[in-house]
Amino acid sequence: TSIARDPASSPGASGVGVISEKEAVARADRLLAQMTLEEKVGQISQRFDIASLFPTGASAPPGMPAMTPLDDNVRKAELGSLLFVHEPAVANKYQKIAVEQTRLKIPLLLGYDVIWGMRTMFPVPIGGAASFDPAGVEQARAIAASEARALGIHWTFAPMVDIARDPRWGRIVEGAGEDPYLGAAMAAAQVRGFQGDHIGAAGHIVAGPKHFVGYGASVGGRDYDSAYLSDSELYNVYLPPFAAAINAGAGNIMSAYMDLNDVPASANKRLLTDILRGDLGFKGWVVTDASAVHNLVKQGFAADGADASVRAITAGVDMEMSTAPNAFSTLVASVRAGKVPMKRIDEAVRRVLMVKYRLGLFENPYVDAAAAERITSDPAHAMAAQVAAERSLVLLKNDGNALPLVAGAQKRVAVIGAMADSPGDTTLSLAFPQDAVKAVTVFKGISERLSGIATVETTPGVQLSRLVPSPLAMLLGPVTPWTPAQAADELKKAVGLAARSDVVILTLGEKIEMSSEQASRSDLALPGDQRKLLDAVLATGKPVIVVLMNGRPLDLTGVYDKVPAILEAWYPGSRGGTAVARALFGDVNPGGKTPVTWPRSVGQVPTYYARNLSHDPDGAGRRYWDAPSTPLIPFGFGLSYTSFTIAPPTVDKAELAPGGKVVVSTMVTNTGARAGDEVVQLYIHQRAGRQSRPIRLLQGFRRVTLAPGESQQVSFTLDEANVRYWNSIERGWVIDPGTFDAWIGNSSLADAHTSFIVSGAPRAAH
Ligand code: BGC
Repeated sequence: TSIARDPASSPGASGVGVISEKEAVARADRLLAQMTLEEKVGQISQRFDIASLFPTGASAPPGMPAMTPLDDNVRKAELGSLLFVHEPAVANKYQKIAVEQTRLKIPLLLGYDVIWGMRTMFPVPIGGAASFDPAGVEQARAIAASEARALGIHWTFAPMVDIARDPRWGRIVEGAGEDPYLGAAMAAAQVRGFQGDHIGAAGHIVAGPKHFVGYGASVGGRDYDSAYLSDSELYNVYLPPFAAAINAGAGNIMSAYMDLNDVPASANKRLLTDILRGDLGFKGWVVTDASAVHNLVKQGFAADGADASVRAITAGVDMEMSTAPNAFSTLVASVRAGKVPMKRIDEAVRRVLMVKYRLGLFENPYVDAAAAERITSDPAHAMAAQVAAERSLVLLKNDGNALPLVAGAQKRVAVIGAMADSPGDTTLSLAFPQDAVKAVTVFKGISERLSGIATVETTPGVQLSRLVPSPLAMLLGPVTPWTPAQAADELKKAVGLAARSDVVILTLGEKIEMSSEQASRSDLALPGDQRKLLDAVLATGKPVIVVLMNGRPLDLTGVYDKVPAILEAWYPGSRGGTAVARALFGDVNPGGKTPVTWPRSVGQVPTYYARNLSHDPDGAGRRYWDAPSTPLIPFGFGLSYTSFTIAPPTVDKAELAPGGKVVVSTMVTNTGARAGDEVVQLYIHQRAGRQSRPIRLLQGFRRVTLAPGESQQVSFTLDEANVRYWNSIERGWVIDPGTFDAWIGNSSLADAHTSFIVSGAPRAAH
């Protein structure tokens, strides 16, 4: 038997069997001592299992690499990890080869993009962030982890913790929006949810926050484009979510594709070693983004794959993720040529072996297909997805209490729009298309809600498509575009339906393939003929309620002013339509808030609360002459069917002394007639310092549920960590004494405020 198998510390069938870090190091080192250089390089090479990208039995569409199974590569110990395997039988097949047919019997680490769910689909991450409910998001990720782990997955390429302040960037949907404080809270919650309280926790998977770092700042919002960030922005805005994720125990980090300040992030020693290990204290392993090592050549940085591999690994990459045969195979020769110290290879391999030990894979490489079926079809998961969707809804407008509707008051209800009855635009699952088609659409949710009391009909009215087809189009199959005559007919059909209905629920927004990777836009207007559809439906004179389905803030010109009510649903997941219906008919009261600022037009981009002009009395008219300087919808905004008052904040003492704290409090009261949730938000501002500081910074939030008439005290404790910042002159974290304002309210426009003094000398902070 291999020394890799150490029955003394074998975990039980549950997978519980924590080994200490020290023990993991010792076991990894014993194994490392037996490994050839080729085996070591194999351990730090990860490859796409292309066949696993597609439903079982499908053949690869043209343009995709071949679906050749990786059995031989695994047998030759050329790979330490695969991605996209998500079926127990496939996972077990590969593990069997690894643990029975290789010399050292080292199990594979199987990674997957578990982002908003595995089989049970939750709202997309921007929707999760809109819930302002880290505990709820943590639970959602824990459920996704349990399903993934049951299927044989050990590690997720998530959460995406990139701050995104440019809604043109398609991947804004995958993150928590524009704010570092909210982003940090969501990053930590997701890591805890995926990973549990330690690596190897039963029913959990390793979290890999990504993309380190600055991907969200790509120039022009263009995917993969270069990013340029000052150190002040890097430390104060882009790194905090990573720091929070690492503090929450994240075992892995993924390096980003793009150039940061002209050095590719995946070969950037300052980022991957000095900052990630030095400043943030990261101890796990770093994987590159897909084929990022090969890309170093295309980026005009490395001469060839061998040069790229040397520069990536010496910068601090530990594992190469690749769609094609791994560039890292060249490391064998490069080590022999003295271009990479063996010590660096050993360090990377040790980190990978350690996680395999900590996950208990040497003892339990296999998964049980029957258990997987049971765990992934747990009805409690679907219910949790519904609650998560309800909590992610944001009521953006509700003039004259147009919402909620009274179920049964309208006998004929029209549900119109391209996403209205499209399961694939309610959620997306590449691995389990059979689950995604079962997603409850808005139409289905409303039909079920009104079953027996009203007639509910649907029609799309418009067809939406991308000018440049999405990579998903390859997987989702071709769509036949409507002819102009068909388009006119469909529009007429929708108008006819509206005309014979008592109310129209109109879904507007973007199809799901219009968000995420390779889904950036140059415009934020509603795609296709949606405004034409809206106008035609409005012309019938019937009341119209808009439900937005989208992964980014949109330009609502021609929409916002024309309809009384807008409910933001994002892409709400498996039970999304049920959640939307329950909100529309008042069974639940929306309480989410937007985690991103909504510009009035694409020309205002970037606009974000920390620096935008909503709070600047001198701003109006001096910044743009063709538009207000203020955004359409501020960060943190969202309405409710009830009303709340938030009392002016008070501080428990006037001074935050060195090492001390202050408590800022308010009383929030539900002054309306319905139970509801309010997200109480605390913002601070430093009046003067050694560097200009943002106009406002979120430093606390709490979502509270209150019965009609009920009040609750909400207090936020601030200490030096809340007032420190990274100073570009001192090149480090500092605290500048002086006066700080503190606002508490229900959006970034909160106006009731107080202040406190940070006392002491200007000082370094840690
Ligand atoms: C994306 C990553 C993702 C990886 C594997 C890349 O193109 O940028 O976020 O984890 O593919 O799917």
